[in-house]
Amino acid sequence: MNRNQILQIELEKLKTRRLNAEVRAKRALLIARDIPEFCKLDDEIRHLQLLLSKEENAKKINQLKKQIETLKKEASAVLTKNKFDSKSLQVNYHCKICNDTGYVNGKICKCLDSAIQRELIKQSGINNQLNFTFAKSDNKIVNSNKSLDKAYKIAEKYVAEFPNFKFPNLVFMGDVGAGKTYLLECIANALIEKMHYVVFSTAFDLNKTMINAFGVPFGERQSLLSPIFECDLLIIDDLGSEPVLKNSTIPNLFTIINERQRNNLPTIVSTNLNYEEIQTRYGDRIMSRLFNKRTSLAIPFVGKDLRQNTK
Ligand SMILES: [Zn+2]
Repeated sequence: MNRNQILQIELEKLKTRRLNAEVRAKRALLIARDIPEFCKLDDEIRHLQLLLSKEENAKKINQLKKQIETLKKEASAVLTKNKFDSKSLQVNYHCKICNDTGYVNGKICKCLDSAIQRELIKQSGINNQLNFTFAKSDNKIVNSNKSLDKAYKIAEKYVAEFPNFKFPNLVFMGDVGAGKTYLLECIANALIEKMHYVVFSTAFDLNKTMINAFGVPFGERQSLLSPIFECDLLIIDDLGSEPVLKNSTIPNLFTIINERQRNNLPTIVSTNLNYEEIQTRYGDRIMSRLFNKRTSLAIPFVGKDLRQNTK
């Protein structure tokens, strides 16, 4: 699903929620109007509200408003006397800022914005429990490691300039536990927050998804593959951890990277392998796409195991 499809779905959900709230309030009003005393006051209030909407004289407007207020208080007292919860007459919108319309003064409301973000995160496959962000990152860890500090600065710039950073494709290379995944998650979360469509997958899962996709009917295949080929940023974590299956893993990976580059869509890859190992395992064609001098930047990660450091 792309962002616009998610937006449409979330807007539909909001509409249902809004209509439900309004229906509940209307139903409560019908029940309350069974109380004759309340019904009379309610009619009077409606009549005055109609007059108010047509009135242009400021003094009279004030007068009408006061009258309405008084009647409303009376009506509320009648309800209380009849053990009727007057709050149920008000439309109880879930979001009090936009009244469940999703927009405030033409701008997207926080509630809709965060619903879309939640959906984007869900789709991206990011494990929420490993939810690293730039804001939450531990400076002590970053500063204690020179290569991570440098990579961190590049990552921040990459996010700030996305998708126009000089090198759209990054390759994080280096030891296990040197902070590659951590930084990938920071990038993913920051871009999701900026409403970009990010797909985050381990090489292992990506391989599995690609293989599964070719075993299902065409329509389903499209929905499995379109996130990988169409997302704003594809992050492939831990390249080299996946099993290499003959006639699928390597051609599939080439197709993904090549197609995305042809469509000017960026990809970030992390790997524990060195250049030689990548060359041997994946061959020249993938090598030349991953390390294209004009469009790719390889970032070395060295150093101690961060996961031990944080304990
Ligand atoms: Zn809202």
